Amino acid sequence: MMRVGLSVEEAVREVLAHLKPVASIEMNIKDSFGYTLAEDMYAAIPVPPFDRAMMDGFAIRSADVQSATPERPVKLRVRGRIGAGESSDAELQEGEAIRIMTGAPIPKGADAVARFEITDGADKPDAAVVDVYLPAQGGESISLTGEDMQAGSKILQKGTVIGPAEMALLATVGLAAVPVCRKPIIGVLSSGSELVSLDQPLPYGKIYNSNSYMLAGLISQWGGIPYLLEQVDDEVEHVEQAIRTALPVVDALVTTGGVSVGDFDVMRTAYHLAGGQIHFWKVNMRPGTPFTFATVQETPIFGLSGNPAAAFVNAVLFLQPGIRALAGCSQPLTPPVQVVLADELQVKAIGMDRFLRAKIVIEAGQAAAYPLPFGQSAGVMSTLAGIQGFIRIPARTEVKRGDLVEAYLLDKPLPGNGQAGGDDA
Ligand code: AMP
Ligand code: MG
Repeated sequence: MMRVGLSVEEAVREVLAHLKPVASIEMNIKDSFGYTLAEDMYAAIPVPPFDRAMMDGFAIRSADVQSATPERPVKLRVRGRIGAGESSDAELQEGEAIRIMTGAPIPKGADAVARFEITDGADKPDAAVVDVYLPAQGGESISLTGEDMQAGSKILQKGTVIGPAEMALLATVGLAAVPVCRKPIIGVLSSGSELVSLDQPLPYGKIYNSNSYMLAGLISQWGGIPYLLEQVDDEVEHVEQAIRTALPVVDALVTTGGVSVGDFDVMRTAYHLAGGQIHFWKVNMRPGTPFTFATVQETPIFGLSGNPAAAFVNAVLFLQPGIRALAGCSQPLTPPVQVVLADELQVKAIGMDRFLRAKIVIEAGQAAAYPLPFGQSAGVMSTLAGIQGFIRIPARTEVKRGDLVEAYLLDKPLPGNGQAGGDDA
């Protein structure tokens, strides 16, 4: 049953309810950045794998140095040295120390490391005796086997997106390959009889197809593989045929254009003809009201507005979590953040949620939004570059300067104060 006129939240929920992660593959860890773990990951070995020194200094028996003071240091006999990567069979006896470097295994008999700073040994690599000026606690400056991660413990959850820290964790327990969801392939089909492809001259009355490239960028940014299809005109059979051809090779399809109420808006009919079930049409938002969501068997189709800015906002709200869900991410939704509205609004609240392009900057440690005073209309493209996000003005809600508003950020660094204006040429 097709529903009409959902709230943004209802629409997101409905989209996510129809998405399942794509299949998993084994990925060399060096190439795993940005992929999502397809299984829980466990440590096969403890980390650290042996008791090790956390400081450069001397492995000692803490009992030997309990009386040490700067005035009356305890003298210990130095029995050799252990560097990182080395090991020693020596067993420390009463009154003995072994010079030891950070990362080296603690020798038998020792229960503490006296760091160089509490000894006179730092620049005496060959000294046979060391003075210790302060007592050390048992266990001091030693990191114990398994202290960081125990053998057999779960170190990362299925559905975690792999970033630099996750790569380090996986490597430290010796995993050279990891199970990840492959990146979903997202087909992009732009429709409109006015569209001309970039290798053609531009006749009067036509425009270049820009949505396909905008979406290619967004899909890559969100962890999908864009698969650009040849644009189609507004003939319903052509659109249907293009959808049928695309479906077998994609994990999801995104279309732009043709979802509104104009004479040539054939997209919903084409979805039907291609075997699709339309779950909803129209969301209480502007721009991007006519967003449509369908599935053909299990393959989702995201029907975006044709207007570039409307398509952009539709993509941020619905395609972004959609791609993350397909990619196996356990938390596909990035909720909006609260930012201070730093300027008066030039537009009134309407009966729908409005999404306004805004510069979002950090001012005195606080994110502040400056909605663009011009260029907010859905067909204007120039103002899409140079913004950091969209702010949301809820339906029938008057907001004024100083109020908190929700912002959907575009994964760009937020500039500091004074850097936001005039640099978006
Ligand atoms: P539609 O949603 O098909 O009614 O299109 C709305 C507006 O967006 C029209 O002005 C179209 O010319 C424009 N438009 C549609 N598709 C694209 C596209 N792929 N690239 C740029 N503009 C487009
Ligand atoms: Mg059109």
